[in-house]
Amino acid sequence: MVVDKKADFVLTEEDMRTLGYAAVDAVVDHFVHQDGAKPVGQMQTRQEVSEKLDDAIPENGKPINDVMQFVIEEVLKKSNIVSHPRSFAFVPGPANYVSVLADHLATGFNIFSGGWIASPSAAMIEITTMNWLLKLFGLPVKSGGGIFTSGGSMANLTALATARNVKCGDDFSKATIYLSDQAHSSNVKAIRVLGFKKEQIRIIPTDMAFKMAINKLQNAIAKDRLEGMQPFCIIASAGTTNTGTVDPIEELATIARKEDIWLHIDAAYGGAAILTLAGKKVMKGIDKADSITVDPHKWFYQTYEIGCLLVRNHKWLSGTFTEKPEYLRDIEGNKSEINFYDHGIELTRRFRALKLYMSLKTYGLSTFRQAVQYNLSLAEELESYLRNSDKWEVVSPATLAIINFRYHPIKEALSEDKLDSINQSIADRMMASKEALLVTTVLNGQIVLRMCLINPRTTMQDLKETINLCETYARLSI
Ligand SMILES: *Cc1c(COP(=O)(O)O)cnc(C)c1O
Repeated sequence: MVVDKKADFVLTEEDMRTLGYAAVDAVVDHFVHQDGAKPVGQMQTRQEVSEKLDDAIPENGKPINDVMQFVIEEVLKKSNIVSHPRSFAFVPGPANYVSVLADHLATGFNIFSGGWIASPSAAMIEITTMNWLLKLFGLPVKSGGGIFTSGGSMANLTALATARNVKCGDDFSKATIYLSDQAHSSNVKAIRVLGFKKEQIRIIPTDMAFKMAINKLQNAIAKDRLEGMQPFCIIASAGTTNTGTVDPIEELATIARKEDIWLHIDAAYGGAAILTLAGKKVMKGIDKADSITVDPHKWFYQTYEIGCLLVRNHKWLSGTFTEKPEYLRDIEGNKSEINFYDHGIELTRRFRALKLYMSLKTYGLSTFRQAVQYNLSLAEELESYLRNSDKWEVVSPATLAIINFRYHPIKEALSEDKLDSINQSIADRMMASKEALLVTTVLNGQIVLRMCLINPRTTMQDLKETINLCETYARLSI
């Protein structure tokens, strides 16, 4: 048999370095110029991008320089700048550069973070970083554990699979789960993925401040018990994505303990606020949770993707996710030598912990604390700025760096419908102008503007200029 000519993917060492430097230059250019970049947003239709990017799979390649330039110009530079100081929509992604470097290193060395044997040191970095987070949130470092995931959605899914296994075992036909109408959609998605029926989900209304209404939760649990259901899990939000509101954790923890219900806290958005005194205060009781979702690619200033699930007892994870096919037998480690494939859903995993580890090692917690505190203060300053204007109404006050407000001039008698259409139009015009990324949300049936201010480089000047623009757009829409 004739062996075909060996194919190779080899670039010369010199090529690799030159291309690598070019890639670094492109990224650093982006980092250095992003703050002043205009436009902030990039709206393109499917048709527009299809024309440029839809392509057949090439049988023969072309020079990497051309491929890379094309990608930088037509893909990377044509995306929204989520780390721009005027990116206020959704949850911005103001990643720090050390995180970028760490991702590059982890990818370059292609570290396999599935099992201990593949990279014990990497696993140890993951354990160490996990322990830092456990300590921050007051969970026991010795018995506690966790896993880094691609994001908050996967962390929530992992949490709920664990909660169900611990509380219900195999029969979850009568299990019921409780979350507020402000809880993140990834939770309901996870519940459905896990095979629960819609009838097993209890959406608990929120009070005037968008917190889960305790009384309504208690009623729902009691009624379910009367009907022979098995209340097994409460999902509390520590920082809802809409308003930053933290559910009454202390009270929820008391109910969960009394009722023997799992308490999962979705702190994907707000978790980082634990670094500040104010944040610690509103999240009092979070250390009583059975599991907590944190999302370092949000307010811990990391690049996508890194989410994290923390649990009070690491055995809950191994008890839920350990399956032993024959080919994994030989790599069973000592109990303390964690195989992360036994703690979650993925076998092959990238080395996500490295970026959080390197960022914290480089800057220290104090820098993170300062940045988060700055974000909280900035939102509060914007709140008083808006309150002191006769054109704006604060609908949900600055809470964990999120504020919701609407154009509502006190001197003009405008109907609710008109106010809704003006505020929608402000956001539409802003997105079209690409001056800022700003979108609306709905609170109490009203269309409001929402700003999420977790970028440490956003200034009060950015905010005032954006509000000015909003006022201009409002006048055009009246
Ligand atoms: C963003 C968010 C999630 C989902 O996290 P991803 O990283 O986007 O998957 C879950 N819960 C809350 C409260 C969030 O803000």
